[in-house]
Amino acid sequence: MPKKDKKVPDSQGRFGAYGGVYVAETLVPALEELAQQYELIKENKEFKSEVQNDLEKFVGRPSPLYFAKRWSKQLGGAKIYLKREDLNHTGAHKINNTVGQILLAKRMGKTRIIAETGAGQHGVATATVAARHGMKCVVYMGEEDIKRQSLNVYRIKILGAEVISVNSGSKTLKDAMNEAMRDWVTNVDDTYYIIGSVAGPHPYPQIVRDFNSVVGKEVLVQSKEEIGKMPDLLVACVGGGSNAMGLFYPFLEISTTDLVGVEAGGLGLDTGKHAAPLNAGSEGVLHGMRTYLMQDDKGQIQDTHSIAAGLDYPGVGPEHAWLKDIGRANYTTANDQEALDAFKELTLVEGIMPALETAHALAYVKKKAPSMDSEQVIVVNVSGRGDKDINTVANIEGIEL
Ligand SMILES: *Cc1c(COP(=O)(O)O)cnc(C)c1O
Repeated sequence: MPKKDKKVPDSQGRFGAYGGVYVAETLVPALEELAQQYELIKENKEFKSEVQNDLEKFVGRPSPLYFAKRWSKQLGGAKIYLKREDLNHTGAHKINNTVGQILLAKRMGKTRIIAETGAGQHGVATATVAARHGMKCVVYMGEEDIKRQSLNVYRIKILGAEVISVNSGSKTLKDAMNEAMRDWVTNVDDTYYIIGSVAGPHPYPQIVRDFNSVVGKEVLVQSKEEIGKMPDLLVACVGGGSNAMGLFYPFLEISTTDLVGVEAGGLGLDTGKHAAPLNAGSEGVLHGMRTYLMQDDKGQIQDTHSIAAGLDYPGVGPEHAWLKDIGRANYTTANDQEALDAFKELTLVEGIMPALETAHALAYVKKKAPSMDSEQVIVVNVSGRGDKDINTVANIEGIEL
């Protein structure tokens, strides 16, 4: 059980054996400056109220805690509550983090923002806050992803940001991240790099966790006021791990609340076509951090697969690796088909269409809730809305839109 006096990450940016700063020497000063500045600025009263103001007036917080009455009854076990991050401006939890990081960037005197994006969701969230603050913004995106995600590429451009196509390596997210790092080294004087999940070198896993923790903090208050007790179980999907970490973090010391993260089982763990490093990966170093990765015996990063583009990442935030090892959180998987079934079920029964990423968490709830009793409470993080996934679902069903 994590104790208050055992602060994580430690001064080296470590969560147990994970995390750290595994980067080229040229990047070390930039990361040290960021870590120092963040420690100072995060306690500043004015800064806190700026963040609070944007979360309220721009994002639309607090997001509701919604009792899924019909779905709970249908599953016949625990009471299921949905934390409605899908109602946020731009439709997902990612905006919580970008709103905070861009205000941090401004405080640090930076005038140019860069980001990497895979499916385009983080690119949109970053371009959105850059427009909000009138800052120059460059988004790195793999050539393959640009082809697959033309709608989000166009969104980013309309928001006034520049998209730079990356054609090295597999031309996807991990290559875009490498390229963004390279840009940052060169332009660190005026540039702030907004990372999109609780991943990367220290202090990013901490910064992104802290900004997303607004989700768990709200759930604490809402549980007390609206349910009258703490939840017995929190569930969230895990790609890089930011929506899960944001929900879990304020509950780490509440030992009566179980925590379950759900990774993408893809076509099945035995097929190798999945994105489940915590369940089926091994320890290694990628993107500046030590964590669980999908890699072969030679340490080559393997291709990932998931029906949900936002879960398609071969690594995971180091704090999750640590929570798994110390047993504070448990991690399981849901496969593509289970996610698709849960996507349809929630839409039909509650009139809420979840993102396919979220549907992985819902698939676990479907399995788990019936084994619990009606006095028990599950809170599941609805990390985003499903509008963006309609074409994917239609495609699978063989329907042309
Ligand atoms: C990006 C994304 C995720 C996965 O990212 P995490 O960092 O694991 O939260 C999950 N859900 C939605 C809707 C997303 O856009």
